[in-house]
Amino acid sequence: MNTENVTPMMAQYLDIKSRHRDALLFYRMGDFYEMFFEDAVNAAAALDIALTKRGKHMGEDIAMCGVPYHAAEGYLLTLIRKGFRVAIAEQMENPAEAKKRGAKSVVARDVVRLVTPGTLTEDTLLDARRHNYLAAFSEVRDESALAWCDISTGELRVMPCPPTRLGPELARLSPKELLVIDGFDLALDDGPALTQLARSSFDSAGAERKLAGLFGVASLEGFGQFDRAEVSAMGALVDYLDLTQRGNLPMLRPPVKEDPGGLVQIDTSTRRNLEITTSLSGAKDGSLLAVVDRTLTAGGGRLLERRLSAPSRDLSLIQSRLEAVGFLQEQSRFRADLRDALRRCPDIDRALSRLALDRGGPRDLAAIRSGLEQAQALSRTSAGKGPDLLQQATAELTGHEDLHALLDAALVAEPPILARDGGFIASGYDSELDEARQLRDEGRAVIAAMQAEYAQLSGISSLKIKHNNVLGYFVDVTTTHAEKMQSAPLSETFIHRQTTAGQVRFTTVRLSEMETKILNAGNLTLEIEKRHFASLRQHILDHAAALSNTARAIAEIDLNASFADLAAEEGWTAPIVDNSRAFNIHDGRHPVVERALRKQGNTQFVANDCDLTAKDTAAIWLLTGPNMAGKSTFLRQNALIALLAQAGSFVPAKSAHIGLVSQLFSRVGASDDLARGRSTFMVEMVETAAILHQADDRALVILDEIGRGTATYDGLSIAWATLEYLHDKNQCRALFATHYHEMTSLADKLAGVENATVSVKEWEGDVIFLHEVKKGAADRSYGVQVAKLAGLPDAVTDRAKLVLEALEKGEREGGKQKTLIDDLPLFRVAQPAPPEKPAKNSKVENRIREVLPDQLTPMEALSLIYELKAQL
Ligand code: ADP
Repeated sequence: MNTENVTPMMAQYLDIKSRHRDALLFYRMGDFYEMFFEDAVNAAAALDIALTKRGKHMGEDIAMCGVPYHAAEGYLLTLIRKGFRVAIAEQMENPAEAKKRGAKSVVARDVVRLVTPGTLTEDTLLDARRHNYLAAFSEVRDESALAWCDISTGELRVMPCPPTRLGPELARLSPKELLVIDGFDLALDDGPALTQLARSSFDSAGAERKLAGLFGVASLEGFGQFDRAEVSAMGALVDYLDLTQRGNLPMLRPPVKEDPGGLVQIDTSTRRNLEITTSLSGAKDGSLLAVVDRTLTAGGGRLLERRLSAPSRDLSLIQSRLEAVGFLQEQSRFRADLRDALRRCPDIDRALSRLALDRGGPRDLAAIRSGLEQAQALSRTSAGKGPDLLQQATAELTGHEDLHALLDAALVAEPPILARDGGFIASGYDSELDEARQLRDEGRAVIAAMQAEYAQLSGISSLKIKHNNVLGYFVDVTTTHAEKMQSAPLSETFIHRQTTAGQVRFTTVRLSEMETKILNAGNLTLEIEKRHFASLRQHILDHAAALSNTARAIAEIDLNASFADLAAEEGWTAPIVDNSRAFNIHDGRHPVVERALRKQGNTQFVANDCDLTAKDTAAIWLLTGPNMAGKSTFLRQNALIALLAQAGSFVPAKSAHIGLVSQLFSRVGASDDLARGRSTFMVEMVETAAILHQADDRALVILDEIGRGTATYDGLSIAWATLEYLHDKNQCRALFATHYHEMTSLADKLAGVENATVSVKEWEGDVIFLHEVKKGAADRSYGVQVAKLAGLPDAVTDRAKLVLEALEKGEREGGKQKTLIDDLPLFRVAQPAPPEKPAKNSKVENRIREVLPDQLTPMEALSLIYELKAQL
């Protein structure tokens, strides 16, 4: 852009903007952040604020909009949610300093921070109970890796990640932003914001040096073995943090290498189907997480989300967690005491990270203080109690006594948010500060006395001494007294400063002297407090590593106590998890459906058994039964029970014996997915293929109505072959729900397949759902009865019943359906003679006559409607 003939300020703006083309530039002017040109147009639309103009640039009006500095966080959040990145340019000096350089000098400004979805730290911009991950994916020759960090807690992790696993891992972590090499593209539904960086950001040699420097070590080897792709991905994270935080690097913990084999593998669609951390609608409500979350601390909440998203495959780890939960479940008094202290625990992690980024305030110091207080309380309660896992956590709670004593002596009980206004250092902590404060406060008392004196002197009883930021202290009277004040003898004492609509304002020599004294003392107190803030902050940062271990221990105790609380109150039991291939659940329940039914108040959840214990072969239950009987609920509840057990929780069942599950797969037939408007059958087949390729003999597979998305015989044959393959090749434990009754004959042929059905009762022609799962095949589908329940007109269900009987009879007698159906009278109920219809509709009628509604898939029904409509 041509920068000639522009004002110095605009020149500065254009210069900064030229370095941040991909972000909105928040340009600080006094109490506002202003945006100009296209930024203003975009931001005004996104924020729904007024678009104005200011001056001209190259003959055209400059569009402008602004947001107040003190309310900027709310606007930032909206912009980030809408996919913008924001560069924040602050004033780097005060206007007086700029003036010293010359009358026309503009205040120096520079970008102090780039705000992006993955680099937020403010409490108001973050969900306290969820991680805010920034991830980076890197490919170096034939290696590839994913690294991720949460700068608001300092966590940094990395693992090898072939491109095919990228989708599932992103689904597990749900990062807010993903860094990739320039040119790499990735199509993701509701995935992270994609940020492309230059290849140099991913350079692994430079990255190794950067990382070693960051952690103050000579090489990364002390933290584990990292391959080039892993180092490159972590390096990209650090590079990007450096760029966005302008050199203020967050406090990152040393990298932890995650072992993909240590976690239950759960892919993207399984995660969605099982509604683990969000329900199908995308909200937390209605998810497993929402139902089991009884954690009391933000850190515990985040840990719970991590555990449920990635249950463990490490038997001894799972057992030690279950042991801790068991202990806490039995010891209810002890648990209540712990939870009492936990309830008062602030978020140490996030306070720590704000302090590290120099974005913290006195409240963050106080959060560390009270966090340490609660840690001590927890440690007093739990010292020497419980199994190993609790003891280890307890050991991490102590060792901060000096730091706590320091913070306790230094801080007032309830400090203000901002350091710059002072008032957070306790009196008695620093005698110099106490003195300065006394001077300032005495000055204020003197001024109060002066007001009485001046009122008497002038004889104006309503005379007041007030203070504002423009005039400082001033004597204030109503205009009725103006003349008196401005004539002798009063005019010798009172010097006129300002006249407003109703008031006249004066100063006096003594008042301004006093003001200077107060100001100096006040400035001195602020300066001393600022110094203390910096030193307390530094003390805390010196202890950062130990503090974050304490925070982690608190989260661990919270999580185990919360699982114990859940188990005790909901009557959940300890699962037996071992190395066998058992899967034997007695009286299992679906935690989310059960909760929903309880809320509605009238129906009880019916508990059901499931035994998929596999010996040498697969173990598969083929589940038949009418729609709405509870097949999907049963399928999912068993997957959730396995997931909960391996996440270290008790389970909603009377007993559960689970041989370690390595992978969890869940698929739902396509027609439920019509709304997504894709070739859903294709999606269904792609997903089924993925299972058949990947599932090993320790997988738990749940298939719900696979094959539903296509014509009956196609669908049946696909479902049939899929089941055979699961049985013969994958040899896994599986639940397979279908409405194809023909498949029940497979149980006779395949040793590992058993039939089960969800029972219903027929009563006076209606169907009653019992929700009981029992061995054996469903005798019929009850589709017609269900249709009746759904309110289809009697004429239709009556007719459907006749058609069904004819079909079934035809099947028995072999291939006579067509004639039988054609013989049936159509809609006998239609009494009046039908009116004459135009001839062109008879084609439509004939087409309808051919239709067998019971054999139509929803897809076919939809296309039939289109076909018929076209013929009208
Ligand atoms: P299907 O998959 O057979 O069509 P669903 O599993 O969707 O049936 O269940 C339909 C409804 O029946 C659920 O929304 C729930 O309200 C109820 N239900 C399912 N299982 C049970 C159960 N075990 N006890 C009580 N109600 C149940």
